[in-house]
Amino acid sequence: MQIPLKGSCQCGAVTYTVSAEPLFTYACHCHSCQKRTGSAFSLGLVIATEALRLEGALTPWSRVSEQGATNTRYSCASCGNIIYGIGDTNPELAKLQPGTLEDTSAVEPEVHMWTVSMQPWLVLPERVHKFETQPDDGLALFQAAMDYRANT
Ligand SMILES: [Zn+2]
Ligand SMILES: [Zn+2]
Repeated sequence: MQIPLKGSCQCGAVTYTVSAEPLFTYACHCHSCQKRTGSAFSLGLVIATEALRLEGALTPWSRVSEQGATNTRYSCASCGNIIYGIGDTNPELAKLQPGTLEDTSAVEPEVHMWTVSMQPWLVLPERVHKFETQPDDGLALFQAAMDYRANT
């Protein structure tokens, strides 16, 4: 991916840049992500929070996960497009919605989680790591993503 990454919401009121190489991309098939996207799964591009520069008004919304962590999502205050989220257990990392990037051609989930609630018609690449739920240690996700990247 070409650094800095640039993106925006649908209406253009919120724009952002990411000035550091992202860590990895995941897909989450949990029911909450299906609900909030209105779709089959969510994508998250994990980046250093300090590398994210935003312009425009954002609305925060928080929910408590099954593990008891508080996750806050930030949406454009005018069009409602979710831009990113941050969990209170790991605030130095942000989960950017990579569909909001100007260039989405390099977006590919490198690890999948919550496949226990994955839509049955979805066929994933064989060599990508699939977690039935969510590993307690976020490092396991990162390592699985790096394994996939090394073998792609
Ligand atoms: Zn907007
Ligand atoms: Zn999820």
